[in-house]
Amino acid sequence: MAPTAATSLKGPQACQIQNYACHCLGLKSYFQQPGDGRTQPHISAADIVWAMVMSRILRVTSFLRLEWLVHSPARTGLGVKAPFGDDTSAYCTERMDPETTRLALAQALHQAKRNKAFENTRFIGLAVDGTGAGRTYKEPCPLCDPIKDARGEVHGSLHHFVLISVVGVGLTLPVDVEPYGPDDSEYAAAQRLLRRTVKHLGPRFADYVVGDGAYATAPFLHTTEELGLPVVARLKENLPLLAAAVRARFDGQPPHAVFQERDDRIEVWDADDFDPWETLHWPAVRALRYRQHKPNGTVVQAEWITNFSIAKLGSLSFYRMAKSRWEIENSGFNDGKNRYGMEHICHHESNSILIVWR
Ligand SMILES: [Zn+2]
Repeated sequence: MAPTAATSLKGPQACQIQNYACHCLGLKSYFQQPGDGRTQPHISAADIVWAMVMSRILRVTSFLRLEWLVHSPARTGLGVKAPFGDDTSAYCTERMDPETTRLALAQALHQAKRNKAFENTRFIGLAVDGTGAGRTYKEPCPLCDPIKDARGEVHGSLHHFVLISVVGVGLTLPVDVEPYGPDDSEYAAAQRLLRRTVKHLGPRFADYVVGDGAYATAPFLHTTEELGLPVVARLKENLPLLAAAVRARFDGQPPHAVFQERDDRIEVWDADDFDPWETLHWPAVRALRYRQHKPNGTVVQAEWITNFSIAKLGSLSFYRMAKSRWEIENSGFNDGKNRYGMEHICHHESNSILIVWR
């Protein structure tokens, strides 16, 4: 697919993308200085990073194929000044400072907000979720997590990371990633990631944080509170007492409200006086159950918790926030893996993996 895409991509298109990225997204100074850590580079990091961005758009997902691309006649059309080899991509990404890319993306998001890209949205969300990608059978790097079968035999290893993404605004905008190795955990990585994102975006950029059941833990919920962000998290059986209390209350009751949301009929149960579990410092827990009836007869039911008050957040908005979590799954991981080569490790070195994921 890539060769046809590369040759059919005409110069002006690449220029237009570059113009858009530099001027509309405000990434010009980032592309000029993307955080190169090499001392005597022959090829500018600006060229390498731009070539990588274009290669992702063209779905060229390995450094070797990128080398082929920048040695082909398509190079000038892509806006890449000089050819370079896969070893240059590897050497450069090993030494790039990820913080430069993070700051540039945060700036681009601020620019989008100033340009009123989110103006039709009442609540801007930040979704967090973890995944594993880049299975390899090579000599492990510090991020490699061995994949064991039932007998404990190792079959290669996987790289885990947490992604944070802007959701609930009509388009999903991934912001940052935090890897976690075998001695670390998803929710510890998520706390580091959330703190860093709020530091970069500022405390008033987003209105809520949303995550699945893995994030319904007291330390994670306390972190969101400390950062001044209300949180919406899936309630699952990892909180058996609360899950049972919610069932006991809602099971026998008719829905508290019914909404029509596009083609779906949504029944909701919503109450804000459940007891927190013993480690959670909330005065009370608000829980929502929704039962979504799709036109084809499928019924989806789930329970969610929040520390938003009913006065600040109605049941329908609570439902929408819960649903916004799926954006990170669909537009974040699925697109990242299927379209942008997140599944493939270009160069098996921890900083290079991080830079390429971003
Ligand atoms: Zn590795």
